[in-house]
Amino acid sequence: MTEAATIADAAVAALLAQLGADLVRTGDAIDPRFHHDWADYPATRPKALVLPRTTEDVSAALRICHAHRQGVVTQGGLTGLAGGAHPGPDDVALSLSRMVGIEEVDASSATLTALAGTPLEQLHQAAEAAGFTCGIDLGARGSCTIGGNVATNAGGINVLRYGMTRQNVRGLEVVLADGTVVRSLNKLIKNNTGYDWPQLFIGAEGTLGVVTRVVLALHPPVRSRQTALCAIRDFDAALAILRFLEQEIPGRLLAFEAMWPDFYRFATRTAGISAPLPGDAPLYLLVETSLPDQESLEAPLAVLLERGLLHDAVLAKSEEERRKLWAIREVPAEYARHFRGGSVKFDVGIPLGHMGEAVGTLRDLIDRNWPEATAVFYGHVADSNLHLVLGRLDGAVLPQHEIEDAVYGIVSRFEGSVSAEHGIGRSKKAYLPLSRSPEELGLMRLIKGAIDPLGLLNPGKVL
Ligand SMILES: Cc1cc2nc3c(=O)[nH]c(=O)nc-3n(C[C@H](O)[C@H](O)[C@H](O)COP(=O)(O)OP(=O)(O)OC[C@H]3O[C@@H](n4cnc5c(N)ncnc54)[C@H](O)[C@@H]3O)c2cc1C
Repeated sequence: MTEAATIADAAVAALLAQLGADLVRTGDAIDPRFHHDWADYPATRPKALVLPRTTEDVSAALRICHAHRQGVVTQGGLTGLAGGAHPGPDDVALSLSRMVGIEEVDASSATLTALAGTPLEQLHQAAEAAGFTCGIDLGARGSCTIGGNVATNAGGINVLRYGMTRQNVRGLEVVLADGTVVRSLNKLIKNNTGYDWPQLFIGAEGTLGVVTRVVLALHPPVRSRQTALCAIRDFDAALAILRFLEQEIPGRLLAFEAMWPDFYRFATRTAGISAPLPGDAPLYLLVETSLPDQESLEAPLAVLLERGLLHDAVLAKSEEERRKLWAIREVPAEYARHFRGGSVKFDVGIPLGHMGEAVGTLRDLIDRNWPEATAVFYGHVADSNLHLVLGRLDGAVLPQHEIEDAVYGIVSRFEGSVSAEHGIGRSKKAYLPLSRSPEELGLMRLIKGAIDPLGLLNPGKVL
């Protein structure tokens, strides 16, 4: 038996003895859904699964694991795409799936306080019911949790209007590796009282502490959404359209998503989603605004048509039509069904001035080396965020590491980032030095060493 397995056995025995079988599951009693996240790693059963109901439960579990020097992997909704929540066979997995609930919507400070395991969609419903909008939104909203959003500093489709998760967080409660509960359920906009420590835990991917409560800033309600799918000439036109709309309808642009034709065809032909525009345009944009009515979006689109920046466009005339347009952009949820041999996924940042050229360079690379792959390009491009996914429709497996080395090499040449929003987790760890200097990595290790000196939280992830 390895040392890790011996430690794990002792830790699990202590967890069971002190927390009981309601909170601690082992063996076949661990539901297989806790064996993996959305990254394509083989399912692995952790040594034990802890299902806390309260912050005190989380604290007790971490205290026991700390005493045994036992590694703990925190799990939210398991929609992460970097393998951050994927457990190892000797890990204890700690799932926030029972810590669900909106504790308060405070209309006077425009904040919402929720337990970390609450699915993002529930936050949307609570915010809307109280006359507000939740600024964080992404395709996985039905399954991802607010704790996971905080841990990954999730981006999503409304970043250009409301910022990343970081910009929406006012306060946090976290539990440290030794079980200490640290709480700042701050609602104040201004609070310059020493180090803004909650910021450290946002985007730390569970390596510094377990987030148990979140206070989010809410935004004024979006009373009407006007959504258009546009066919355009190229990426330079996309940039010109973005800048034009920012000036013509300031503060009203909610989403600006680009889809290259391979993505549009995958969605409308392979996945069978209805195609409101033909599939032969060089680039598609999904634009969503908070304008009051359809005419107010028609006017700027007419100017863009006149200037030759737009080739064609369809406007959603009802909520049902709007959902149908978004169904095209949300086709990534279908990858697993079509790429049965798995897929190689990228979530990179590219400076906007180089985005068009970078996509061309990456497309040439793929056509030359892996012509049998279906490669789809899309992204939250207003945030310099490009997604690229490669898979094979015949179920064959692609050479993941070879592709990653080549793609990240190009991203690095364009001075991009190896992760724009999904995080480093397990899958991008080897490539982190392409985006961070040795001094930056040294500082990250210093922070990790100070807050989790035994390296127990999400062992082997990020650093
Ligand atoms: C269809 C689809 C669309 C997506 N779209 C987007 C998008 O537009 N933008 C985007 O940024 N991401 C996107 N993602 C990725 C994913 O949804 C986000 O990363 C999300 O924030 C993860 O939340 P989760 O609760 O599922 O976390 P998990 O997958 O469970 O965990 C993710 C990481 O956070 C840690 N973690 C989870 N909960 C906690 C906690 N309470 N305390 C401490 N650490 C914790 C885990 O250890 C892990 O490292 C998408 C995923 C899918 C499947």
